[in-house]
Amino acid sequence: MNSPNSTQIYNFIEKLYPICRSITGDGVRETLKLIHEIIPITIKEITSGTEVFDWTIPKEWKIRDAFVKNSKGERIIDFQKSNLHVVNYSIPVNKKVTLKELKKHLYSIPDQPDWIPYRTSYYKEDWGFCLTHNQLQNLEDEIYEIKIDSELFDGNLTYGEFYLEGETTDEVLISTHICHPSMCNDNLSGISVATHIGKYLLGKKNHFSYRIIFIPATIGAITWLAQNENCLENIKFGIVLALLGDAGKFNYKKSRNDSAAINKIIEKVLIDSQLDYNIREFTPYGYDERQFCSPGINLPVGTLMRTPNKEFPEYHTSADNLDFVKPEYLNQSYQIIIDTINIIENNFSYINLFPKCEPQLGKRGIYNSVAGDIKEIELAMLWILNYSDGEHDLLDISKRSGLKFDIFIKAVKLLLKHNLIRKIK
Ligand SMILES: [Zn+2]
Repeated sequence: MNSPNSTQIYNFIEKLYPICRSITGDGVRETLKLIHEIIPITIKEITSGTEVFDWTIPKEWKIRDAFVKNSKGERIIDFQKSNLHVVNYSIPVNKKVTLKELKKHLYSIPDQPDWIPYRTSYYKEDWGFCLTHNQLQNLEDEIYEIKIDSELFDGNLTYGEFYLEGETTDEVLISTHICHPSMCNDNLSGISVATHIGKYLLGKKNHFSYRIIFIPATIGAITWLAQNENCLENIKFGIVLALLGDAGKFNYKKSRNDSAAINKIIEKVLIDSQLDYNIREFTPYGYDERQFCSPGINLPVGTLMRTPNKEFPEYHTSADNLDFVKPEYLNQSYQIIIDTINIIENNFSYINLFPKCEPQLGKRGIYNSVAGDIKEIELAMLWILNYSDGEHDLLDISKRSGLKFDIFIKAVKLLLKHNLIRKIK
């Protein structure tokens, strides 16, 4: 198995952190190149102007430098110090302005005077700078030289896709967004966890096929869906990964289709983890579940997060940095996905071949307990034998029993070995 060591997921975040990403451009390409060093992804380029459902792929954005200089020629707001200083997708600007004019294009957070906010202007041509509120308050009434050395041109939208064929063409979809510049929880935690999940899957034999997509939020998901509409029916389970590195408890947002198996599976994983968690109903706001669960697509896709978007003060600011995410929380999130995959891969239905009264397990050497002191695995065998009537799968039975799913995998192996059950689907 390709299990990451305790800091591997975090270390990959450190590597990706300095890159200035956006919904298009070289930052995304550089990010995908680094992912490709770990897992074999295919990198796709879709031309600006391509129609994707009701949307159009925008122009590609390139940024080389940006600054505001005071009258002494000092770079008092400097893109080279933090890529959050420039409003993402800003059009090029090169002029001298008064403080009053400059202030119309400045963004800060008065409640968090040391943090730089993250702002974008993807679909409206505009420009601006983000700065700490302290910086803003120290600006003097003078003439400023401003320059944003950027370019918007007919180029491409870039995304990455990892596909691993299993025994069946039925698929598990994992999706994560890759369009945020230097912020760690949103979105590097999702990128790094998804990459390491891919690495784990490469190291084992899988029943299901797996597809992991690394896409710019919204427009990337819409593009991917528009380009892959004919193979969506293979997707049986899906998870959007975001915000997986903070100290908060897990939040699973259910798929729009309430009865989707992924909802029951992740709930069971969270119960078995004995960690604190919340299950939330689907809402048409948040990450790319908005597209995957739009009514005409309606895929069985839920979203796994720790603290949800907009519910922590560091969200979309420079404080979502390398100190805000921790290896232990990232590893815990990774483990939740691994446990989810483990259920998906092992949740079959069986039929009890000795349904009239209990088969005698003792004479087969697989039941040694004295009454009142039953072992967990023996209990699991009794549950499986009783409910393997063709109506219940292993997940149903394990949920009913209150025992962990893991023990059911072991119990099934024993029962199959002794020809007491048969797999039906
Ligand atoms: Zn975000």
